[in-house]
Amino acid sequence: MFVDIAKIFIKAGDGGDGAVAFHREKYVASGGPDGGDGGRGGNIVFVADSNLSTLADFRYKRKYVAQKGENGRGGRCNGKKAPDLVIRVPSGTVVREAESGRILADISDKEPVIVAKGGKGGWGNTHFATPTRQTPRFAKPGLPGEEYEIQLELKLLADVGIVGFPNVGKSTLISVVSEAKPVIADYHFTTITPVLGVVRMDEESSFVMADIPGLIEGANEGIGLGHQFLRHVERCRLLVHMVDVSGSEGRDPKEDFVTINEELRKFNPELAERPMIVAGNKCDLTDDETVEEFKQYIEAQGYSFFPIMAAIAYEVKPLLNEIREQLSKLPPIVRYEPEPAPIISEDEIGRQKVTITNQGGIFFVEGEWLLRLLRTINFDDSESLQYFQRVLISSGVIDALKEAGVAEGDTVSMYDVEFDFVE
Ligand code: GDP
Ligand code: MG
Repeated sequence: MFVDIAKIFIKAGDGGDGAVAFHREKYVASGGPDGGDGGRGGNIVFVADSNLSTLADFRYKRKYVAQKGENGRGGRCNGKKAPDLVIRVPSGTVVREAESGRILADISDKEPVIVAKGGKGGWGNTHFATPTRQTPRFAKPGLPGEEYEIQLELKLLADVGIVGFPNVGKSTLISVVSEAKPVIADYHFTTITPVLGVVRMDEESSFVMADIPGLIEGANEGIGLGHQFLRHVERCRLLVHMVDVSGSEGRDPKEDFVTINEELRKFNPELAERPMIVAGNKCDLTDDETVEEFKQYIEAQGYSFFPIMAAIAYEVKPLLNEIREQLSKLPPIVRYEPEPAPIISEDEIGRQKVTITNQGGIFFVEGEWLLRLLRTINFDDSESLQYFQRVLISSGVIDALKEAGVAEGDTVSMYDVEFDFVE
């Protein structure tokens, strides 16, 4: 079954906890702290797998949780980091945060992509020893791994998409020009999954063609099968619009042409601008004058027109040559860039609660919202840093610290951030 959309939950592993431990040796009265750090939690990594063509696997398994990093141990033993959890998807899968629709990744190339980062391991008590604090009896827990409800959406990677009414001969064309062998039959909607075929022109050049199953009027509103497949047209660099010029099914070819273009436009106005070549199929079922008249109608609108008989591959070569020619001038297939998490404004954050614990003179600040905020801050960027400082004041964290008794120069620890308190 062809499934090109799926919703799943992913959670990267939490970091391992830092250890509280003290060096023990015979005849040595009290050794120093030697608790090791926790290991990093496993990342959730996506990889494009060319053997996969659908997202069907995700209908049954919807939860993916990577392992927690190992806890630190005594003797300065750091915990091992947990292995990454690798999720294989068909090439061309776009990963979005389900709620906001924000793009997290486009899995279209060979390189694996980390979509959810494992939490950092917590520091062992070794890190907290100072001349005045020789026996720190605390360590840091590991940070939680990132988690998301995500939507996977397959958007095929094809250079050319063939669009047109059902039964006009799209599958026939792809089967005579590539190794793809879609089902061809004389009834509507025989093709219920988009089919990709590689068209090899010669030694050097080839391109990928997609047979996009029948669109019909109303496809953009989800009528028929069309809507489901329109998303696969979105990345095509060029469209071949196939029309049954003979009107063998009782429709008017000109109306067909207008209808399909309208469907494309309604689904995504950008598609109406996509370069398009028109192929008039089933020329054997009509006369030359009809074909000629249709050709003029199409050419008057600025498209190039190719009369063919797909079933016997008649005059298919000039069409392929034109496709190659146009592709050579077009930009490569679109890759979607990940979108950064939106910055939450000070107003939106408002006043917030945090938990502060003073352990051996270090003020540990915790709060779920704070962790989320920290993930959006870039500490190498002065503007981002200033924003962070402003939020600490406006949200009430600084007030809460003062209430907890923080003094100038004390250490404040917020998850993986640490700083000295200054007024
Ligand atoms: P699709 O729904 O657009 O994929 O159409 P198909 O490729 O499945 O073809 C529909 C019907 O049209 C099949 O019976 C084909 O054999 C037939 N067909 C395809 N090309 C031609 C052609 O050039 N001439 C004629 N007469 N029939 C064709
Ligand atoms: Mg078909």
